[in-house]
Amino acid sequence: MTVLYLKVTDKQLLKMIKQLIDMPFLKIQKINYSDDIIRIYASIKSRRSKCPLCGRYSKRVHDYYFRTITDLPVFQNRTKILLRTRKFRCGNPHCSQKVFSEQAPDIIRYSRRTKKATRILETFAIELTGRLGIIISEQLHITVSSSTITRIDFVIRSKRKLAGLKTFARGMLRDLSAVENGINMRWSNGAVEGHVNRIKSIKRQMYGRASFELLRKKVILSRSG
Ligand SMILES: [Zn+2]
Repeated sequence: MTVLYLKVTDKQLLKMIKQLIDMPFLKIQKINYSDDIIRIYASIKSRRSKCPLCGRYSKRVHDYYFRTITDLPVFQNRTKILLRTRKFRCGNPHCSQKVFSEQAPDIIRYSRRTKKATRILETFAIELTGRLGIIISEQLHITVSSSTITRIDFVIRSKRKLAGLKTFARGMLRDLSAVENGINMRWSNGAVEGHVNRIKSIKRQMYGRASFELLRKKVILSRSG
C-alpha cells in the first residue's frame, strides 16, 4: 500500500533529494526508484580533471564508464549513485600517466562508498566491531561484510600513533581467519575466557599471601562463576 501524505511535483522531489545528497559537484541526470532502492544517475560537473601524477589539468575525454557508489540511505531507502566517470588523456608529453579517471571530492578513489557512508562505517568499526557492526550497518542500508568492518578497523587503528593498538591490530591480522571465524561462527570460547578471567582475579586478590592449596579451594568453591 502506498500512502502519499504530500503531493509533490517531480521538480520539488528532485530538489529535495539533491539537498539530502548534498554533493554540489554532481550533475544529477535522473533519479529512479524501484525495489526500495534510489538510483541516482549522475556525472561530475567539472569540465576538466587533474592528472594524479603530474597535476596538469586535462579536458581531453578519452572514454567513460559507470561506477556504482553506495551513499547513506534517504528516508530508509538504499541509495546508489551510478556515477558516469570520464577517463581523461593527460596532455603532458613527459607524464607517464597516459589516461586517468576523474575524481570527485566526496567519493574516495577506488571506493564503492561515499565519504559520508565510509565515515559512519568507521564509527561502527571503532565502537562495535564484528557482528553488531554488521547488523547496524544493514539497518542503515550500508551493507558490508564482517571482513570489511575488520579491515576498516585495522586501517583506523594503524593510522593512529598508538603503538599498543598497532601491535594488537598486527597480532589480529596474523590470525585473521580465526578472528573472522570468531565473528561468523556460532561457537564461542567466551565461557572459557570468562572462567580464566575469574580465576585470574581470585589469584591476584591473594597474590603472595597464600598457597596453591588455598587458591585451588577458592577457585573450586567460588560461587561467582
Ligand atoms: Zn600527467
